[in-house]
Amino acid sequence: MASHLRSTLLAFVLGLSLGLPTGSAAAYEPETADPHPVRVEPPAPPAASAEALPAGEELRTEQGEVQPPTSGSGTLVIGYSVEGRPIEVVRFGEGSHSRLIVAGIHGGSEANTTALAHELIAYLQAHPDSVPERLTLYILPELNPDGAARASGPQGRANARGVDLNRNWPAAWQPAWSRSGCWNLGPTTGGERPASEPETMSLIQFVSATGVEALINYHSAALGIFAGGQPPEASSLHLAETLAAVSTYPFPPIDTGCVFTGQLIDWAANNGIAAVDIELHNHRDTDLEENLAILSAFLAWKP
Ligand SMILES: [Zn+2]
Repeated sequence: MASHLRSTLLAFVLGLSLGLPTGSAAAYEPETADPHPVRVEPPAPPAASAEALPAGEELRTEQGEVQPPTSGSGTLVIGYSVEGRPIEVVRFGEGSHSRLIVAGIHGGSEANTTALAHELIAYLQAHPDSVPERLTLYILPELNPDGAARASGPQGRANARGVDLNRNWPAAWQPAWSRSGCWNLGPTTGGERPASEPETMSLIQFVSATGVEALINYHSAALGIFAGGQPPEASSLHLAETLAAVSTYPFPPIDTGCVFTGQLIDWAANNGIAAVDIELHNHRDTDLEENLAILSAFLAWKP
């Protein structure tokens, strides 16, 4: 069942990859896994933002080939944003079961989620034994680096093409939606089509290649913990209940009447991945202590 799901996801990914610019569809390898790697010249990122790229390097393989990372820990570049900024994932552990934490999907308007992700990374670097042997944990601190670079606050929410990256996933996708009860502090769209954005495609490819079994997507602020799926899928609901039990975030979440379209956690739940959104208490704090308890419960959770 799991391998059937993975091949279905892979087919979907490869199908969608055909129209992508060079670089977006390439696979990734950890930077530190092999002291003598076979190097493949990486495709150039878009020229407009070359200055945004760090001095680091990454390994890539032929375009369209999707490979899970090999053993080892370190930072992986899984793709590039519209403006060419790298989308990075930090890996902990070498277990056969993969879990994922995603922050910064709403860029500068939810920058405290990225700050939290970096605090969790620092904690795990100091306490690597926190990750059980059977697991590999990936943390993606900033899925929307262009929005974060543009502005803090509401103007930093969308990506460089004005797309809300949590409305771009192939799950109940719509190009536009009623703003009643929803975030409405600026113009955003769901994109030209599902997974139209390179940030979305990079994460779809990564999740498909690694076989992620559970994920947390951090947001802010205040509405609580949401389970993936509409209606919520059983394993996502179980994960949400488990995390709610060790935190004070509202669960069930506060219902503002907003209709959610194209969400990451709904796409994940539809593809057999237990997935939850967690909204931090405000737009400023990282709630670190509370989220260390959540991290511990997330790593101990059994599907
Ligand atoms: Zn958000």
